[in-house]
Amino acid sequence: MRHRETGSPHLLGVSIVHAIPMSKEKKGMKLTVKIYDVIIIGAGPAGLAAGLYASRSKLDVVLFEKKTPGGQIVITDDIANYPGAPAESTGPSLIARMVAQAEEFGAIIIKDEIIDFDFSGKVKVVKSAHDEYQAKTVIIANGGKPKLIGCPNEQELTGKGVSYCATCDADFFTDLEVFVIGGGDAAVEEAMYLTKFARKVTIVHRRDQLRAAKSIVEKAKTFKNLEYLWDTVVEEIKGDGMVESCVFRNVKTGDLTEHFADENDGTFGIFPFIGFDPVSSIYKGKLNMNDAGYIITDENMLTNIPGVFAAGDIREKQLRQVVTATADGAIAAVAAEKYIMANE
Ligand code: NAP
Repeated sequence: MRHRETGSPHLLGVSIVHAIPMSKEKKGMKLTVKIYDVIIIGAGPAGLAAGLYASRSKLDVVLFEKKTPGGQIVITDDIANYPGAPAESTGPSLIARMVAQAEEFGAIIIKDEIIDFDFSGKVKVVKSAHDEYQAKTVIIANGGKPKLIGCPNEQELTGKGVSYCATCDADFFTDLEVFVIGGGDAAVEEAMYLTKFARKVTIVHRRDQLRAAKSIVEKAKTFKNLEYLWDTVVEEIKGDGMVESCVFRNVKTGDLTEHFADENDGTFGIFPFIGFDPVSSIYKGKLNMNDAGYIITDENMLTNIPGVFAAGDIREKQLRQVVTATADGAIAAVAAEKYIMANE
């Protein structure tokens, strides 16, 4: 089984541009320092919405994305609850449109990973492995990454039976058996998607009641090849080069059961959808965050540092959806514009 990145830059219509680094001394001459109005870190729905709003306000905007634009939403096949999205919308198609909109107004997307920063001065500095960039304001929209089960061999067998992206990998499990771990919206929605490919999909949940929204739970009941394993967690995944068996533990009885791949199949799929963690470690100790690592902002997305905003899934909030991420991005961009005007 191969593991691919979802959505190529070409498919998403992204113009990846060369970096415009900070000033460098050359033969005793100092080159002009480019100071952007807004640097946006992360090109998921929050970052792209911020990019759209800021560039539409004629601000000089650059977004940094270490992979391809989209964030978590590009691993989702079905966009059922983003207002106005056409019925056939998928995560990648929605993101492609968001990228096009931001670029139409002049936002630039640079493929680079921001690994360090200095927000102490009036001019903010962000750093990648090779370059430094400056801006009057920064909007942090890094989002999150899938939470790992943390059991033996999970990471070793990722891409070899274990996958965190149903949209990317479902076809590898055509006519095979699949276990989806988790009981939230993502687990149930992705399980329904996987039923189109797999022979049988079993949702393995650590309680006897799903966390997913009632509407999603009701829809799932209509799928004939979707089953449930309640009060159960994954204890260990086993396999030599690909998933061959999985040890489940019943949390009520403590009983261990090892599920082996059907002899004819040789393998089966394990898709953990147990939530995600914010990608916020580089900001630890500098920006206020809660115990889980989510950045704390006010209602204008302002962090504890003037001129530095946070938007989307990386922010402490109640509801993490595309619609709330894009709203955060729009609010952050408008707040950044006001900050720039007030400080010029
Ligand atoms: P989530 O809502 O946090 O659900 C995580 C699920 O995984 C829960 O059922 C949880 O069990 C279980 N879990 C957590 N840690 C576990 C562990 N170590 N071992 C086994 N099970 C574990 O996460 P999500 O489903 O990824 O959703 C994240 C956010 O995105 C939510 O706000 C959700 O509403 C949103 N989302 C929305 C949609 C949609 O509206 N269509 C689709 C996808 C995601 P417990 O229930 O026992 O805690």
